[in-house]
Amino acid sequence: QQVGQPILQAKGVTKRFGGFTALDSVDFTVAPGERVGLIGPNGSGKSTCVNCLTGALTPEEGTITFQGQDITKLAAWQRARMGLVRSFQIPRPFNKLSLMENVQVPLRFALAEAPPEGSANRAMEILASIGLDSKADWSPKDLSQVELRKLELGRALAASPRLLIADESMAGLSDSEVDEIVELLERLNADGIAIILIEHIMRAVMRFSQRIVVLVAGKKIADGNPHEVMRHEDVERAYLGQ
Ligand code: ADP
Ligand code: MG
Repeated sequence: QQVGQPILQAKGVTKRFGGFTALDSVDFTVAPGERVGLIGPNGSGKSTCVNCLTGALTPEEGTITFQGQDITKLAAWQRARMGLVRSFQIPRPFNKLSLMENVQVPLRFALAEAPPEGSANRAMEILASIGLDSKADWSPKDLSQVELRKLELGRALAASPRLLIADESMAGLSDSEVDEIVELLERLNADGIAIILIEHIMRAVMRFSQRIVVLVAGKKIADGNPHEVMRHEDVERAYLGQ
């Protein structure tokens, strides 16, 4: 990774499902430590984009570079080890394990051969950073919705991400809970983690993002300063449905 180089660069990424083009030659960059909002109507290709970036899907065309390395053909676990990590829209914690163990499972995966004692300390650090250290021995079953979303982000933190992609971490939360998640993401970002926020709650996207990228029907139609992007007539049209 050279100075001034983007941490992530996607060029001409195209993903088709049968004859349907879900992602159409999308270019996308993220600078180290940057906060980027990725928005678009339902079905516009946001999750497909994330899946191509993280390696869950293989694009038909295009290249993806992470920290200066071509990762287009790497498996998801290899990308995760490099620090390119996502959280999921619907948390699926292990309900039979404690919060501590829930964070340790991906941690063990990320560290490969680390001794269990070291991973326990790191797991407590992660729980502290998401504000759940006092509940380390609880089951995820006993958490509130907002705490579950935090746990999901904590599980992603186990891989020590340099770039974290948060796919709709806030859906269904109250205004104050949305603020709690935004503040958590801001703290993680202050620690140097670049973040792509995929979110329908525009108040949160506008507060959090330094730059906004808009996808509509698989194409990138805008990319830039949040206020300018939201004034873009194509974006208004896409959101107002003409
Ligand atoms: P978003 O996350 O923006 O709501 P998605 O990326 O999930 O959109 O979906 C984009 C389009 O691709 C949608 O029309 C969706 O139906 C389609 N799609 C997504 N995944 C698949 C798949 N595995 N097979 C077929 N079509 C898919
Ligand atoms: Mg989606």
